[in-house]
Amino acid sequence: MFRIDDRDIRFNLWEYLNLDEIIKLPAYAELDRETVEILLANAFKMAKDVIAPSNMPGDREGCHYNPDGTVTTPKGYKEMYDAYVGDGWIGLTVPGEWGGVGAPQMVGMAASEAFVGANAAFGMYPGLTHGALALIMDEGTEEQKKTFLEKMITGQWGGTMCLTEAGAGSDVGANKTSAVKVREGYYKITGQKIFISSGDHDLVENNIHLVLARTPDAPKGVKGLSLFIVPKHRVKADGSLGQFNDVTCVGIEHKMGIKASSTCTLAFGEKDACEGWLIGKEGDGIKIMFHMMNEARLGVGLQGLGVAAAAYNEALDYARERVQGADAARFKDPTATAVPIINHPDVRRMLMIQRAIVHGMRALMLKTARYADLALKGSGEAQEKAKGMLELLTPICKGYGTDQAFDVTRLAIQTLGGYGYVSEYPCEQYMRDAKIFSIYEGTNGIQAMDLIGRKMGMKGGMVFMNFVTEMQEHLARLKEHAATRDFAAEFEQTLGDMQNLAMTFMGKGMEGKIVDVLLNATSFLRFMGNLSLAWLHGEMAMLAADKLAAIFKAKGAKDDAAQKALLNDSPEAAFYDGKVKTARFYHNALLPENRSLAQSMLKEDNSVMEIVL
Ligand SMILES: Cc1cc2nc3c(=O)[nH]c(=O)nc-3n(C[C@H](O)[C@H](O)[C@H](O)COP(=O)(O)OP(=O)(O)OC[C@H]3O[C@@H](n4cnc5c(N)ncnc54)[C@H](O)[C@@H]3O)c2cc1C
Repeated sequence: MFRIDDRDIRFNLWEYLNLDEIIKLPAYAELDRETVEILLANAFKMAKDVIAPSNMPGDREGCHYNPDGTVTTPKGYKEMYDAYVGDGWIGLTVPGEWGGVGAPQMVGMAASEAFVGANAAFGMYPGLTHGALALIMDEGTEEQKKTFLEKMITGQWGGTMCLTEAGAGSDVGANKTSAVKVREGYYKITGQKIFISSGDHDLVENNIHLVLARTPDAPKGVKGLSLFIVPKHRVKADGSLGQFNDVTCVGIEHKMGIKASSTCTLAFGEKDACEGWLIGKEGDGIKIMFHMMNEARLGVGLQGLGVAAAAYNEALDYARERVQGADAARFKDPTATAVPIINHPDVRRMLMIQRAIVHGMRALMLKTARYADLALKGSGEAQEKAKGMLELLTPICKGYGTDQAFDVTRLAIQTLGGYGYVSEYPCEQYMRDAKIFSIYEGTNGIQAMDLIGRKMGMKGGMVFMNFVTEMQEHLARLKEHAATRDFAAEFEQTLGDMQNLAMTFMGKGMEGKIVDVLLNATSFLRFMGNLSLAWLHGEMAMLAADKLAAIFKAKGAKDDAAQKALLNDSPEAAFYDGKVKTARFYHNALLPENRSLAQSMLKEDNSVMEIVL
């Protein structure tokens, strides 16, 4: 049954990442801890009670394409959507001046983990609307904001992002959809977009598409693209719906996962009557779209976390219940009774890997959200630093996070054995749903190239240097702390390797050996992801160890026996102890993968490029 790791989420928010400090920023003056707690409790309740029960039926039924070119979502989705938007969840992080709650990104991220974990396919509808409205809010004219925002924030209208065409996937610059100016600000749009999530559906009365298109005589590539607001139905001056804007859904995809999310082929201007409203300036389309894409990339990382956490919890609950085989300590005793599989070393190993990834990913997503809050609402040096960290960590959240999430779902299935493979249990759906996360919003191969090719060199390498400094300071603390010093050497090794790799790739870049660098992009992304999770596990472990020591002291548990007994009796003590043990396991069992990754990246093996395939 779907459940949420609320204890770990609260540990991250309040104890580790100091959300109290964020809500003290002037932008969040309306909020206090109690209000945030109520918001989260309501979000978790909605995720558990309203959204999660629809996940499996929605997967079985999928979306329906109707002869009139409209799309119907699975049974019950409209009622669920109305309940979701009725509670104002689309506006959770939208500033109060627009009618939103004005919560920080950290709170939005924590609530959304529950929503997307409960039903990743359903989460696509409000998720895309939020991305589209945030773009209009930041980049649109006052008139555009006035026309669209209110109805999108309340969920009456939906939103999409339309980049992909049959010949333009990863290569966005190959887009052919055309935009011809008809009057100031307005253009006639003609072309076809494919794979458009929420492209058409019955949850909203109007759908606001953000469409990349090329104006006549614009330069080739991404620099020639402009961005347009293209509603399905035009909007009259008084805000009511006008005529159909010639945006037709000509089909939906039948796909491996997230089946309850409609994935549409959209034809713009089949009858020469589709009008788009320019947002920003001509030629600035990709720059502006990146606004939405950066948010969406974090959103996809979060989808990975939500689904991985749901899969891990399912595996954990199952392992506690499923009785099979005798305890390993009595393997030669034919009279030994069977025990729950959670006692078997190999099952515990699988669960520990899943836990280490899920807890590490949660810390990564929430820490990145914290940087987003500081980047948006902070000031001075802290704000500048946060902007850099946000940029650097975004491809890691998306690319590394979603690959790891898929691996968690694989291990969850393995934990359940045959029951994991059959659709009576949810794990096989989690795996099918999770696969798309590594593909859309820029494939993980593209994320890897973004990290190594763009983010590492940002601001003349300053962003990366700040990251290195942060890691060095962390290492010093790790070596000092009694609870972590025994595994600090592994972090030191990986930090040294990272600096060596960075120097090597920089040298190759300067020599113009770009292919050599890109050959290692995916390995480097994985390396950086492993390192980042180690950093966060280390930080959490030091804090948790201090809290555990305080509990032991308060309860007078001085020796080993008393402390062990307390761990069995006190869920709080066991929680903190679990954080320390997870960090130790991560450094000892998972982080060493970075040694082999570093070795292989430094080998300069060019067979991949030389082989005739
Ligand atoms: C369910 C679903 C929902 C989607 N939702 C949306 C949406 O809402 N809006 C939207 O605009 N699009 C959407 N997409 C499209 C998605 O973003 C693209 O599928 C994705 O960007 C990859 O493009 P492609 O499929 O054409 O693959 P390709 O670009 O052909 O890539 C194929 C492979 O080649 C690799 N590759 C391509 N170019 C390079 C390169 N230069 N260097 C190294 N490797 C490279 C890729 O990493 C990949 O492994 C969706 C897709 C799906 C399946």
